[in-house]
Amino acid sequence: MEQVLLIRYGEISLKGKNRHQFERRLLQNVKDALKGLEPRRIELAYGRMYVPLKENAEAVIERVKKVFGIVSVSVAAVVPLEIEAICEAALQQFNQVKEGETFKVETQRPYKQFPLQSPEISRRVGGYLLKNTGNWKVDVHNPDVTVNVEVRQEGAYVYTNKIPCLGGLPVGTTGRAVLLLSGGIDSPVAGWMGMKRGLEIVGLHFHSFPFTSERSKEKVIDLARKISAYSGKVKLYVNHFTEIQKAIRKNCPEQYYVTIMRRMMFRIADRICRQEEAKAIVTGESLGQVASQTLESMGVINEVTKIPVLRPLIALDKLEIIDYAQKIDTYDISIQPYEDCCTLFVPKHPAIRPKLEPVQKAEEALDIEGLIQESVDKTEVLVIYPD
Ligand code: ATP
Ligand code: MG
Repeated sequence: MEQVLLIRYGEISLKGKNRHQFERRLLQNVKDALKGLEPRRIELAYGRMYVPLKENAEAVIERVKKVFGIVSVSVAAVVPLEIEAICEAALQQFNQVKEGETFKVETQRPYKQFPLQSPEISRRVGGYLLKNTGNWKVDVHNPDVTVNVEVRQEGAYVYTNKIPCLGGLPVGTTGRAVLLLSGGIDSPVAGWMGMKRGLEIVGLHFHSFPFTSERSKEKVIDLARKISAYSGKVKLYVNHFTEIQKAIRKNCPEQYYVTIMRRMMFRIADRICRQEEAKAIVTGESLGQVASQTLESMGVINEVTKIPVLRPLIALDKLEIIDYAQKIDTYDISIQPYEDCCTLFVPKHPAIRPKLEPVQKAEEALDIEGLIQESVDKTEVLVIYPD
């Protein structure tokens, strides 16, 4: 029996031109996600997508489940438009159900030429199932199992399963953003959340070789690879931050190291945003976690850029962030013990509520433009694809 993966999508609020753009992008993203799994013709009809399934159904489903914008999927049998074939397919699908006592049949009939009407189809299929199965009963209000029949011009689709997916918006539909990607737990989750709302993410990592090892860079590449499974690919800038850190350490008061370092990061992110035509910066900051995450700190750090800074984790507790990190499979990489450039740079008494003026004053000792230009010139650009 021929099988297809039926894909449901859509934020209900989308209308007109937006809807069209959403669909086109989603179709492209599904195609990209299935690259390498032999060519498949993906059909788009009546606000659904249909992917033919062959022997590698599992792999197809795993990949489709990571495409943002999809609400749920079902594996459906496709049969000719005859009631006997529909009943037979329903029985086959039903026999794969492991648990339950009650069921109902729900029919949709967008193809009105089919001679039987929806209630009659449901009745016939239900009767056939009752006759050919054990102790099942019909319960139309609160069934354990729903057998779905959809009668369309090209055939009847029959399925009993519905796998919930991630929802969100197709990556690329809301624009591009630069993600400050450290090797920590938080920023990959923040990037993933940005993707969920349709952002195309460009990663930016600050690397302080030889203070941080080559392996700590590999770790960030591994993280970028994990989140690229949700977007097809991730472009990653690796910025060499060593000279900037040295200059700060040499010329600025210790209590402002972190504030000034983070202002430099934001300045460079601002630069990369302009290069990439990205309209936002995304960080893994949350409120009150560390010294640089007080409102006062964020204010002083944010002051160097006019580009909106998105902080998707702002209201999450660490444990909630860890849950997400485990779900998207970045956690085990993040906890590997390779030092981040920030951890090497933590003063004994950082200013927890810095004021703008003394920080600006302290920065006068730096050749800010020169330092930024030098590090931007040495930036490596990588394109990371999923495994
Ligand atoms: P994370 O777990 O993401 O490292 P964190 O809780 O350790 O976050 P900080 O180290 O203060 O917090 O960093 C806050 C945010 O700044 C990070 O989430 C990330 O977006 C950005 N950031 C920090 N270090 C780097 C780095 N080396 N390269 C790029 N971005 C960084
Ligand atoms: Mg960190």
